[in-house]
Amino acid sequence: MTKEDYYNILGIDKNSDKKEIKKEYRKLALKYHPDKNPSKIAEEKFKNISEAYAVLSDDQKRKMYDTYGHAGIDQQYSTEDIFRGVDFGDIFGGMGFDFNDIFKQFFGHQYGFGGSRRVQRKGADLRYDIEVDLQDAYKGLETEIRVPRIEVCEECNGTGAEKGTSIKKCSQCNGNGQIKHTRKTAFGVFSQITPCNKCQGQGTIIEKYCKKCRGNGNIQVNRDIDIKIPKGVDNGSQLRLAGEGESGLGGSGDLYIVIHIKKNIKYRRNGADLYMSRMITYPQAALGTKINVETIGDDVEKIKIPEGTEYGDIIRIKNRGMPYLRGRGYGDLYIEIKIETPKRLNRNAKRLLDELNNEL
Ligand SMILES: [Zn+2]
Ligand SMILES: [Zn+2]
Repeated sequence: MTKEDYYNILGIDKNSDKKEIKKEYRKLALKYHPDKNPSKIAEEKFKNISEAYAVLSDDQKRKMYDTYGHAGIDQQYSTEDIFRGVDFGDIFGGMGFDFNDIFKQFFGHQYGFGGSRRVQRKGADLRYDIEVDLQDAYKGLETEIRVPRIEVCEECNGTGAEKGTSIKKCSQCNGNGQIKHTRKTAFGVFSQITPCNKCQGQGTIIEKYCKKCRGNGNIQVNRDIDIKIPKGVDNGSQLRLAGEGESGLGGSGDLYIVIHIKKNIKYRRNGADLYMSRMITYPQAALGTKINVETIGDDVEKIKIPEGTEYGDIIRIKNRGMPYLRGRGYGDLYIEIKIETPKRLNRNAKRLLDELNNEL
């Protein structure tokens, strides 16, 4: 893939001076800023304009580029080198953006702005437990859940600084967030690094805290999320909703929905198979009969009880169990036959049973 011309990327001509370059870059950067425009395309665009700016705003790099083109830059400088020394804070100071965070997110390093120690954490993964009926697991379920989560404060884009106020590089640690103490002793020179106490290791000083998040950069919100529980889920099934976890400056975590199936009085479940028991009378067992069985899918199945059925015999109805999760077809329904022993018989019934007993 051929790389686009840096001047084209910024929409400027070859004779543009530094002021114009800066002005164009600033305009584009605000447009494609990942917090404002969270798409992959915008992210790519943002990287490209930032790289173009980094090169064209540096006299030496610009000269290399003008003379040799992209080869002059790519062979000479690493990505880190390209961005080294560019003061993005100078451009975006007071905009409420933390460009260090963005660059670290993109390149895995920190550039410009003196290299603050702000950590680019991805938002935490969240877990949400939901209990559903066996019927819901059979049919699948669409429902709405309310998930409390931590989000990056929109007001300040997570910087913690009130809009329009500036974030300054900490003067005590020069933006490093840490201070090196060197001690000379008879045994040699010892250095110790401690977090800067002026900026609490952040490398930056916030002039005025964002009112919405009180300077935390994030807030707790309740989010209503529509979820779709697929048919066939079982106890402990998990659904992963990518990016629905907590949001952080390094991206959002995922939301894991853990399914719990309520106990069902009629059915016992084993994978996709269902088990139930059914009581029949002693004569039905002896003579054979047909009975109606209501299945989980609310169908009524007429099943045959063969002559001479014994207590504990199991009858299988194929494909009347649970659907297979992310698969085709259904498990089976097993019916365990139980035979009712008649109680409180009237005189006539007793006589008939007595007669029967004599026949056996
Ligand atoms: Zn805020
Ligand atoms: Zn400091």
